[in-house]
Amino acid sequence: MNKINIHQKEFEILLENETICKRTRLIGIQLNVDYEGRCPIFIGVLNGSFLFMADLLKEVELDCEIGFIRVASYQGTTSSGEIKETFGLPEDLAGKDVIIVEDIVDTGLTLQYILEKVKAQNPASINVCSLLFKPAALLSPIKELTYVGFEIPNEFVVGYGLDYDGLGRNLKDIYRAI
Ligand code: 5GP
Repeated sequence: MNKINIHQKEFEILLENETICKRTRLIGIQLNVDYEGRCPIFIGVLNGSFLFMADLLKEVELDCEIGFIRVASYQGTTSSGEIKETFGLPEDLAGKDVIIVEDIVDTGLTLQYILEKVKAQNPASINVCSLLFKPAALLSPIKELTYVGFEIPNEFVVGYGLDYDGLGRNLKDIYRAI
């Protein structure tokens, strides 16, 4: 299917599942090399990362721990206007090699927030692995963003974990809005 409709909005194919899986395999191989002899903890950011996390971890042959967190953002009354909250971040990250697994890095604000929370626990190292990255939308550089599946244009995408107003997370491929 090259074109689909979700909530009366039209989307066209951007990345086929086979392309995503091939790239994921390569990232897995790179992680196996980079973390050889170590036991990292992978922390997936819900909801969007659930499919990528599952496919990526099937390629990882290291001894590793796996966890998930959820970040909620809502409008507040502070000057920044936005308050975020993390649910379920493991509390024993001191001295560990942490790998944050994201679906997409857009402005990077969510990731910056998560990184601050993780760093506060004094891990041995932190790296980020994101399936998608929109460089044109990034507000400030993130040095921990070491593993990126695909750099994409600054367009809204859906599928393979990513939703449009609640729908589309179960799509095998990734689509962009047209
Ligand atoms: P950031 O904080 O980097 O701006 O945005 C991160 C979150 O916004 C992602 O984890 C994702 O939930 C959502 N997001 C950003 N861009 C897109 C997009 O193109 N499509 C969808 N479905 N969600 C997006």
